[in-house]
Amino acid sequence: MSMFDLQGKVAIVTGANTGLGQGIACGLAEYGAKVVCVGRSDMAETEKLLGNFKAEFLSVYADLSSTASIPGIIKKALEKFGRIDILCNNAGIIRREDAIDFSELDWDDVMNTNLKTAFFLSQAVAREFIKQGSKGKIVNVASLLSFQGGIRVPSYCASKSGLRGLTMALANEWGKFGININAIAPGYMVTNNTTALQNDPVRYGAIIERIPMGRWGTPDDIKGPAVFLSSRASDYVNGYTIAVDGGWLGR
Ligand code: NAP
Repeated sequence: MSMFDLQGKVAIVTGANTGLGQGIACGLAEYGAKVVCVGRSDMAETEKLLGNFKAEFLSVYADLSSTASIPGIIKKALEKFGRIDILCNNAGIIRREDAIDFSELDWDDVMNTNLKTAFFLSQAVAREFIKQGSKGKIVNVASLLSFQGGIRVPSYCASKSGLRGLTMALANEWGKFGININAIAPGYMVTNNTTALQNDPVRYGAIIERIPMGRWGTPDDIKGPAVFLSSRASDYVNGYTIAVDGGWLGR
């Protein structure tokens, strides 16, 4: 376990109240990290789960649709734990509409939360890593739509493709500081993000048929890759986006 040990590490996880972010927060806590859970909704469910691992944690309310909340997140994390070692940019939204009718609002909202805030939060955290003189890990939650186009989700595809590109760009600049920036590209996972697809029996069945592992993923499936990319085990992995998709991209 030592290669994956996160004892003494402080991790910020955005969108930790539910879904994949909750899975990531729990996975990191299970391996010893103290977790700063960032989000705009009640964190009680995640707090209860973190209690099972006797993990130290802090919940920080923040609306990540703008960058205004970033200084407060950093300040509260440092006040509570004195350092930051890991950032997981997980919070994200999706808007579905035919590209021909897609609104500027649906473009801006998705790009702001999924890409702009992720970049500026990474910048703020990287500055702390450098100030601390420590190594650091940044894990972005990308998507299959970092590799594919999707249907009726143009801003989501653009944001997640952008996040994959940003992962490489930041690795190029910050690798010299001992900072690893990687991404996880989840496939089809059972969370609020995919409620519309889960409720459409035709699409739901068609998706399962195309997944080599024959099932949708769950927040549990994301824990291992998140721990790997947050730990010493991945010290020489940089700028890479790992698909966690049951084999979807190989089809
Ligand atoms: P989810 O349950 O909808 O979770 C999204 C998280 O982001 C929630 O915690 C949400 O908070 C938070 N969030 C969104 N906008 C926010 C804002 N302005 N301020 C603060 N928090 C905000 O869906 P999920 O599947 O776990 O999504 C997690 C990440 O995985 C997202 O980046 C998503 O794009 C990505 N992803 C998911 C799938 C999938 O199949 N589920 C596939 C590929 C990638 P609220 O609960 O308050 O809305």
